[in-house]
Amino acid sequence: MGRECLSEIKRNILLNPGPSTTTDTVKMAQIVPDICPREKEFTQLMRKLRRDLLRIVHADPQKYTSVLFCGSGTINIDVCLNSLLPQDGRILVVNNGAYSARAVEICEYYGLPYIDLKFPEDQLPDLEKVEEVLAENPDIALVHTTHNETGTGILNPVREIGALAHRYDAVFTVDTTSTLAMRPIDMDRDNIDFCMASAQKGLMAMTGLSFIIGNRSVIEASAGYPRRSYYCNLYLQYQVFETTGEMHFTPPVQTVYAAVQALREYFQEGEEQKWARHTRVFEALHRGLRRLGFRDLIRREWQAGLVVSVVYPDDEHWDFEEIHDYCYQKGFTIYPGKVSGQNTFRLCALGAIDEGDIEDFFIVLEEALNRTGVAVPVRYEGK
Ligand SMILES: *Cc1c(COP(=O)(O)O)cnc(C)c1O
Repeated sequence: MGRECLSEIKRNILLNPGPSTTTDTVKMAQIVPDICPREKEFTQLMRKLRRDLLRIVHADPQKYTSVLFCGSGTINIDVCLNSLLPQDGRILVVNNGAYSARAVEICEYYGLPYIDLKFPEDQLPDLEKVEEVLAENPDIALVHTTHNETGTGILNPVREIGALAHRYDAVFTVDTTSTLAMRPIDMDRDNIDFCMASAQKGLMAMTGLSFIIGNRSVIEASAGYPRRSYYCNLYLQYQVFETTGEMHFTPPVQTVYAAVQALREYFQEGEEQKWARHTRVFEALHRGLRRLGFRDLIRREWQAGLVVSVVYPDDEHWDFEEIHDYCYQKGFTIYPGKVSGQNTFRLCALGAIDEGDIEDFFIVLEEALNRTGVAVPVRYEGK
């Protein structure tokens, strides 16, 4: 069993919203000698990983820290909301989609006091309304929203929402799972106190490792807040990392190695170049969709540049499952939508892919449409 095995690993193009297509070098980085994660060699690796994560969002290590968790991305939302709410405080969720709705569910499960400030899924939040709610409810201690609402691909104005949160003395937590390490983020400039992601999205590493980047003094203040979870308490995990360099409980060892390699590749590619590549992929997705006649759900100028929500055509032969299965066999994964009351599917610009892969994909998609009898260009009723 040698490294040559790798040449046999098929390269799949994942157009789902994560996990993303990884490089062979990241896949291979998981093949390491067995090691106990309590060894200094491993804790040093995690220390560097934590520091490097800060660099991605231009976070000053004096002011910010990063805390790792073993779990999928949702663990970060859980941890932030249950750990960062002081006694008698309330959470405001600025909610225009599925991932902010998930934050609302987390509030419900913990019995946290919250306001679910809902906006239509295909619209930007109304900032005047956000301010009104903040002004009327001085007990709001935490404002939460989603940067790129992955369910639709809409980009939320986090800098503006963060400025409002701060004006009313609230901490601002942002679910950046589907932007971090892709669309440039700057903690201070964007008024973000806490952001988060998991390794399998923008970093193009493996599932099982998630991380929160946030304001150290807020985490330290949270030591005195009500404790609502044991495994998912931010202060407890932070404090163990700071004192021992270790994750409180067993880390996902091989996944950490993959993330370290992914970070190396991230800095090699560079923030701007990487964003330019994702943008190329995104443009290629739109070009291909336009050529086949598809419509997208969200106004183009509101899209975060990473997810396209495509409206199902009005064709009796259209069958998403069949189209999916055909593309899947050819090595391309497409993904169902996550919009209530609208039938959509999603194509995403994440991962170690480039515009050539998208051009190949559209050849396959067109074949799938032809074989299933869907008219090309696709049709919509009405206009
Ligand atoms: C992917 C994603 C998550 C995490 O989902 P998991 O299935 O738990 O990994 C959270 N928020 C957003 C915006 C996401 O895109």
